[in-house]
Amino acid sequence: MRLLAQIFILLTTVAATAAETNYFCVVCGKGPLTGRIWMSKWGAVCDDCYRLENHCSICGLPVRPGDGCVKTGDGRYICKFDKPDAVLDSYTAREIFAAARRGLVELYGGGFALNFPDVTVNLFDVDYWSEKSHNDGLHKFGFSSTRRSPSGVCTHEVVMLSGRLRAELAATAAHEYTHLWINENIAPGRAIEPDTLEAVCELSAYTLMGAERQPEMQKKILENPYTHGKIKTLVTLAESRGVTAILDWVKTGETAGLDAPAAANWKPASAATGRKTQLPADLRFTGFFTLGTNDVAIINGLGFAPGERRSLRLRNGTALVDCREIRAGKVLVESNGIPTVLELERSK
Ligand SMILES: [Zn+2]
Ligand SMILES: [Zn+2]
Repeated sequence: MRLLAQIFILLTTVAATAAETNYFCVVCGKGPLTGRIWMSKWGAVCDDCYRLENHCSICGLPVRPGDGCVKTGDGRYICKFDKPDAVLDSYTAREIFAAARRGLVELYGGGFALNFPDVTVNLFDVDYWSEKSHNDGLHKFGFSSTRRSPSGVCTHEVVMLSGRLRAELAATAAHEYTHLWINENIAPGRAIEPDTLEAVCELSAYTLMGAERQPEMQKKILENPYTHGKIKTLVTLAESRGVTAILDWVKTGETAGLDAPAAANWKPASAATGRKTQLPADLRFTGFFTLGTNDVAIINGLGFAPGERRSLRLRNGTALVDCREIRAGKVLVESNGIPTVLELERSK
C-alpha cells in the first residue's frame, strides 16, 4: 500500500511509556490510545488498525469488515467516512451527469447543448475497466463514445468508474460530456492533437468545478499530468480569449494544436465565427524597451507590458486595448475581443 505513506503521518512514537492521550482510534474505537498513534485525515488510528490489510480506495484509511465500510462488487473498500459521498449506483451517476451537463450549457451557452440529446450513462467497476482500458490501467475514470448512423444520427454513451466521490464524478461527467459535444461538432476530417483534445475536455471539468466552488478539485485538474500540461495552456487561453473562441477552434480551426497566445498560431476568434474584424485602424506599434524583466511595447505613444490594458484615444473614439504578448518585433493586442498582431514600425 504505497498510497498509505502519503496519507498517514506519524503523529507520535512515544513508545510504551507514553502517558494516556485523548485520542481514540477512528477505525476500531479503541482508546484513549497510548504508544504509537497514526494520524489520518479523519483522526487517530491505533497501531493495530494501521497494520490492517485492507484500505479505503478513496482515502487510504485502514478498514475492517463491520466497521461501517462498504465493499464494491469488484472488491474495493470504501471507508465509513467516504461512504456517504461515494457514488456506487448508476442512478446517482446519471443525476450527477445530468447536473454537470446543465451546468456546462449554462456556463458555455446554448451552443454547447447536444443536437442528439439522449445519452446512456452507466457506472462500471474496476474489472470492466481493466478490460476496456487495456494498458491504461486506472488512468482514465470515464469513457465516452458516439456512434453516427449513415443518416447522421448520433447515439451517445458514457461510462464512469464507480466508487468515487460526487465532486470527482461531476468533473469526469463534464469531461466526458465535452467529448460527446466534440464528436457531434467537429468538422469532418478534422484532427486535433490528442493532448489538446483531452485538455479541452479537462477545461470543462475545470470550469464546472470553478462554478461549483471546488478549488481543491480545480487544483487537482491543473496538476494532473494526463494532458502533459496542456490544460494549463487552455485555462490561460480561456481566460484571455473566452471559451467560445476555443470551442470555435475545436469545430473548424485549421491547426491541430493550440499554444499559449502567440501571434503565429492563434487563429483570431473573429475569423472562426465569421464576424467582421473591426480593429481601430490607427493603432501604431512604434518601439519597445525592457523594464526590469518586462518587455514594454510602445503603442500610440503609451507603454504596454504583456497583460496590461489601457485606454487609447483614436480617430473614431476611445478603445480599450489589451496587450497579450510581445515577441520578435511583434505585439499581439486585443480590443473589443478582436485580436490583432501589430508589426513594429521601422523609422524611416
Ligand atoms: Zn484501531
Ligand atoms: Zn476513505
